[in-house]
Amino acid sequence: MSKITGFLDQPRIKDQYAPVDARLKHYHEFLLPLAPDAARLQATRCMDCGIPFCNNGCPVGNIIPDFNNLVYQDDWRSALDTLHSTNNFPEFTGRICPAPCEAACTLNINGDAVGIKSIELSIIERGWQEGWVTPQPPAVKTGKKVAVIGSGPAGLAAAQQLARAGHDVTVFEKNDRVGGLMRYGIPDFKMDKHHIDRRVEQMQAEGVTFRTGVLVGAWPDASKVTNLSKHTVTPDEMKAEFDAVLLAGGAEQPRDLPAPGRELDGIHFAMEFLPQQNRVNAGDKLKKQLRADGKHVIVIGGGDTGSDCVGTSNRHGAASVTQFEVMPQPPEQENKPLVWPYWPMKLRTSTSHEEGAVREFAIATKEFIGKGGKVTGVKTVRMEFKDGQLTEVPGSEEIHKADLVLLAMGFVSPVGSVIDAFGITKDARGNAHAHTDEGGYHTNVEGVFAAGDMRRGQSLVVWAIREGRQAARAIDQHLMGTSVLPR
Ligand SMILES: Cc1cc2nc3c(=O)[nH]c(=O)nc-3n(C[C@H](O)[C@H](O)[C@H](O)COP(=O)(O)OP(=O)(O)OC[C@H]3O[C@@H](n4cnc5c(N)ncnc54)[C@H](O)[C@@H]3O)c2cc1C
Ligand code: SF4
Repeated sequence: MSKITGFLDQPRIKDQYAPVDARLKHYHEFLLPLAPDAARLQATRCMDCGIPFCNNGCPVGNIIPDFNNLVYQDDWRSALDTLHSTNNFPEFTGRICPAPCEAACTLNINGDAVGIKSIELSIIERGWQEGWVTPQPPAVKTGKKVAVIGSGPAGLAAAQQLARAGHDVTVFEKNDRVGGLMRYGIPDFKMDKHHIDRRVEQMQAEGVTFRTGVLVGAWPDASKVTNLSKHTVTPDEMKAEFDAVLLAGGAEQPRDLPAPGRELDGIHFAMEFLPQQNRVNAGDKLKKQLRADGKHVIVIGGGDTGSDCVGTSNRHGAASVTQFEVMPQPPEQENKPLVWPYWPMKLRTSTSHEEGAVREFAIATKEFIGKGGKVTGVKTVRMEFKDGQLTEVPGSEEIHKADLVLLAMGFVSPVGSVIDAFGITKDARGNAHAHTDEGGYHTNVEGVFAAGDMRRGQSLVVWAIREGRQAARAIDQHLMGTSVLPR
């Protein structure tokens, strides 16, 4: 255990960010990682609980009390090894994970949780600075070949684990760069992309081959999709070349809002808007970028993707940014004894909200209004719970001015084409069906596995890493009869 009275003496050290007016001028990260001394102070708060609920609340099962103690002992190298034993990419989760471990921390019952995520980030940043993060190529090769479809966090975690187990791994990615939604969804100001690039270099040195710009199977309405690779590989070619295949293609089918006027110019899915800015940041020259400059922007959907649209619109210089959420505003403070150690429903104000946005709750879109084929406004109605049902408030119609409407209401399922092309059974939500228990992640097709958002539906980076790691073990076991990869 770290300092015995630490949780009494030391308050939680909150995350620090660059000031709003400075960070709005650029697209880079603005989180200021904790200095090592501050991270040690943060770690003194850990009580090394007999039952560490933090560990249970973490989808990858990070051994949190142990690395907290090692940081307190100033043994950063061992802390890094402990962290890496459960998480291939702590620099991703240390930046963009919502940290369910902190919601589950015992100190959160009646006070402030240990700042676990900031300690995690400090450990991995120290590891990179000291040169401790190096390639770990396998001592023995198995001669088995595995294809991973999709280079998001699930595909990357699986590929790294499988390569370290000695298999020849090829990652197929339809986009021109590796990273999945971390590359072309999550804005750079939340996570700079060089963090992905240096992991790709590490994985290449461990023997992983990346084939970007290659679509496996087909894509519906391919002619309407820009930047879609023309280079395709069929499932039959893949099954002939590889001993096992992992489908980790994410859940890219966005939820639409088929209200009258939806066809108007100026109404776009969030994932038409956000990736373009990341591409421009990466140096790509786009023929015409979808931008918010000087526009009245309405973001429909109150979640993280919507918040990312708010941050990007403000950086473009929007005239106004308003975010709609159909559900009523949740409480600012959850009833902790009632919900702990679970993830609480409460008002979450992101760094993008702090940069400026009007947030409207309990509001639903009835119609998009336009002139000359272009959107000019959104007709809405207020909502309330009546007899347990969310219902419209009579006479509450309003018109909100809008030049750009961004639809950020989540993702309904994977784009089914690659699942269909392999003949995989789907679950009721259209995800690839595969159980996760021992020997799991195997679909109904021999040698074909599924993991990440493609199997579980839209989720989080940390869940994708967990699924990638566990699927890698299942594939290793399938190929070799046994596996030493962690569960
Ligand atoms: C805007 C946005 C912001 C988000 N912010 C956060 C956040 O802050 N924190 C968090 O934890 N989570 C966040 N998420 C969710 C998180 O990004 C996803 O849950 C996670 O990336 C899923 O990982 P994955 O590997 O399963 O799939 P993905 O990351 O979606 O990667 C799948 C990859 O497979 C490729 N692919 C698909 N089909 C094929 C094919 N047929 N052939 C070749 N390649 C193919 C795709 O191009 C894609 O690159 C966010 C999501 C979005 C959209
Ligand atoms: S629950 Fe909190 S206090 Fe307890 S071991 Fe985990 S991080 Fe430390």
